Amino acid sequence: MHHPAPWDQPCERLDQPGQGLNREQAFRRILDGHWRYLQNERQQIHVTHEDRQRHAEGQFPFAAILGCADSRVSPEVIFDQGQGDLFVVRVAGNVLGDFEQASLEYAVQNLGVRLVLVMGHEQCGAVKAAIGGTVIPGVLGQLINEIRPAVEQAQGQDGDLLNNAIRSNVCHTVDMLLERSAAIRDLVATGEVRVIGLVYDLASGDLQFQRTVG
Ligand SMILES: [Zn+2]
Repeated sequence: MHHPAPWDQPCERLDQPGQGLNREQAFRRILDGHWRYLQNERQQIHVTHEDRQRHAEGQFPFAAILGCADSRVSPEVIFDQGQGDLFVVRVAGNVLGDFEQASLEYAVQNLGVRLVLVMGHEQCGAVKAAIGGTVIPGVLGQLINEIRPAVEQAQGQDGDLLNNAIRSNVCHTVDMLLERSAAIRDLVATGEVRVIGLVYDLASGDLQFQRTVG
């Protein structure tokens, strides 16, 4: 008897919370989309009148992403997903503040999203600034300060400091999310939600998975 893998099952329920996808199915869809992106075979390019009408009825994303605001790391492009598929929170350095946390909690609690990605990227200017050590005034300085613990952690590691700090920053953000958000932590504990920290390589388009929880 043939038992289809979870991701082999049809995913037609676009109007269900999280598009009816569990954490594994959602992850598989992300990987499939990323593969199409790497092969330069993106499918999610056109938006029809019918699509817009459907979106006006409500939103049903299947994954939430906390990513950097950098113009080169658009999740919809990298994962070849269309309007309404991804709940995206972007801020320089993919740091976790209260409002970013609140947005991710909304996606999980209210929209039924079962996959949360924290995505950093190589050559991240925010992490470079945190390594630089220059005191930066104003709110930009506050943001950069959020990255400094990850830099300090990376300073004790072998290898390239910037790359290590970028990885460390992603892991730090995942840890902070699970530490601060009881809502997400509880759903991870029951096996419903998965949180993944990853780094996107600008030149190759590859993903380096750093941390998977749930
Ligand atoms: Zn960046």
